[in-house]
Amino acid sequence: MNLPLTALDSWQQLLSHTIDDPAELIRALDLPEDLIAPAQAAAQGFPLRVPTPYLRRIEPGNPDDPLLKQVLPLSAETRKVAGYVTDPLAEAQFNPRQGLVHKYQGRVLLIMTGACAINCRYCFRRHFPYDENRLGPEQWQSMLEYIRSDTSISEVILSGGDPLAVSDSRLQRLVGDLSAIPHIKRLRIHSRLPVVIPQRVTAEMIDILGSSRLLTTLVLHVNHANEVDEQVGHALTQLRQANITLLNQAVLLRGINDSVDSLKALSEELFNWGVLPYYLFVLDPVEGAAHFDIPDEEAQQLVGQLQGTLPGYLVPRLAREIPDRPAKTVLPTVIG
Ligand SMILES: *Cc1c(COP(=O)(O)O)cnc(C)c1O
Ligand code: SF4
Repeated sequence: MNLPLTALDSWQQLLSHTIDDPAELIRALDLPEDLIAPAQAAAQGFPLRVPTPYLRRIEPGNPDDPLLKQVLPLSAETRKVAGYVTDPLAEAQFNPRQGLVHKYQGRVLLIMTGACAINCRYCFRRHFPYDENRLGPEQWQSMLEYIRSDTSISEVILSGGDPLAVSDSRLQRLVGDLSAIPHIKRLRIHSRLPVVIPQRVTAEMIDILGSSRLLTTLVLHVNHANEVDEQVGHALTQLRQANITLLNQAVLLRGINDSVDSLKALSEELFNWGVLPYYLFVLDPVEGAAHFDIPDEEAQQLVGQLQGTLPGYLVPRLAREIPDRPAKTVLPTVIG
């Protein structure tokens, strides 16, 4: 592959110069040209977006590569399947402030930005009205006011989109504003950026998160061991050295990580860098993603088998998000 990438590219450049053209992706990876037309059609509904550091981890010439499958638009996405909807989590009803979701006790989730560094085809936010949820200064003040006025909230979760797509100076202000609220003890950041563009983990970012009085956790999103290369590992090591707790959530996806071997390799690779598995989600029934689905029974068997091969702390909780419930629903497993 001949990619115009040097070690000097800043994360902002990598974020703004992602691959958005299906033909470019397919040619860069030496894949069959007949994948182009369906990819272009499916990308109309939800654009293709792949940052170059992630592209480099995809094996050229392999249409079944588990990383490629997470990003390549397919004609299967345009099929309508009963039960698959545009807002599977019915989040609209828990929005007391624009961009703020207060659904679980003690925790609020803030939707910081619509932008993601990568567009994952199975994402439940693929139909999210991000433009209506853009976070301006007034909206941030309104969120802060909500959090300040409810002392039962002890944890703030920055989500998105990708909350680390904001600049370090902005991040510093956000963290500063939250640490000024006495009842906030914990900060959690749900981000895929340290994995897809590890250059995002700047010395400044580490300093901002590491020096805050808030107990800070970064919940990564990695679905396959191949997503973690040396550079990602290096970024994770630096985060750990700054006392940031590292967890991972993954989504169980047909053809990507639906085997005991793959899930085992993922847990082991993550733990090599100090990351503990947290949740393994079954797919949300989002329109356009039905081809990734795995029946509950099969998912429960897989995780049961994983329990039979790994120490307990390397087995993620198999879970689903059901609207109207006060927490994620953990699925029972059959130990195999
Ligand atoms: C998933 C989620 C959380 C976090 O749940 P945990 O079980 O604490 O990880 C919080 N708020 C909302 C709205 C969520 O969807
Ligand atoms: S990074 Fe997360 S929010 Fe963004 S598209 Fe992927 S799964 Fe969805």
